[in-house]
Amino acid sequence: MRPLFFRDLSIPIGMGALAATTLASAIGVASLAQAGPKDVNVYSGRHYNTDKQLYAEFTRRTGIRVNLLEGKDDELIQRLRSEGSKSKADLLVLVDAARVYRAQELGLFQTIRSAELNKDVPANLRDPAGRWFALTRRARPVMVNPALVNPKLIRTYADLSRSELKGKLCLRNRASVYNQSLTADELVRRGKPATQQWIKGMVANVKEPLFTSDTPMLRAVGLGQCGAAIANQYYLARMLRGDNRADRAAAAKVKVVWPNPTHINITAGGVTNSARNPEGARKLLEFLASPSSGEGYASANDEYPLKGWGNNPTLKAFGTFKASSVSMEQLGRRNREAVELMAQAGWK
Ligand code: FE
Repeated sequence: MRPLFFRDLSIPIGMGALAATTLASAIGVASLAQAGPKDVNVYSGRHYNTDKQLYAEFTRRTGIRVNLLEGKDDELIQRLRSEGSKSKADLLVLVDAARVYRAQELGLFQTIRSAELNKDVPANLRDPAGRWFALTRRARPVMVNPALVNPKLIRTYADLSRSELKGKLCLRNRASVYNQSLTADELVRRGKPATQQWIKGMVANVKEPLFTSDTPMLRAVGLGQCGAAIANQYYLARMLRGDNRADRAAAAKVKVVWPNPTHINITAGGVTNSARNPEGARKLLEFLASPSSGEGYASANDEYPLKGWGNNPTLKAFGTFKASSVSMEQLGRRNREAVELMAQAGWK
């Protein structure tokens, strides 16, 4: 047996509603306090077993142990804020550019310089100032039930406001950071008046009530309760490969339609401002962003690697797309404006 490198302090899914204070005691801060000075402590918004295998591989190669604390993104941000300079975290991994940018604005990251990261992470997928770097890419295409909506009608997100979709379009609510980032993307590429028109058109087509997560919405598309929806590709991939037979059958009815360009987002990591081991954290970031381990990190959640399409057969079957060139930094910077615009235009 290999020695156990992992002191897994995972927060079980479903505990997300707990207050931060309860959370801290539930996790067992004492375990992190035992972490050695040469260890790297990761606060991660991801929760996949394959991530742990990758961290173990990093330990095998470098001798640097990794201690993992998993939680919901917003709770991890909150926790780092309240811990301040006393935080044990060396690396913060978050999902969605808007959250990463929020953490940046709160001063939770430090600037790091790495020729490797600059080579492996495309410029539009990292902070120009070097505080955070993308590790995976995800896309938010249109998901269509061809029995209700002709997929050929949709060539851009703007087509979702076409009158043919009246009463057939299902959407997540405005609180969804995924939709906020999509709106910021439209805002950057097409400007405020066009984005406002787009939202108003979609709102006119919407089938109420709005959804609060992607998976039930995809189920509804598969079951013919919705003709079209906007959802992240990994939710459909998960349903297609999951244990639930009904979900597999529903997902099989859903066609992925790639708007041109398609909105993409990221999982990203940055060395924390409080890091005791910034060197080790940087090395772990470099390892995770490298093409060889990056493929594994991406496919753990049916995501795309930083460059190219990867080898995931489920994703390959979805086809390829032209990604929006809007930078992740812009998505974060325009988030507030996007949310205001969504509210004004009636996106509940
Ligand atoms: Fe998600």
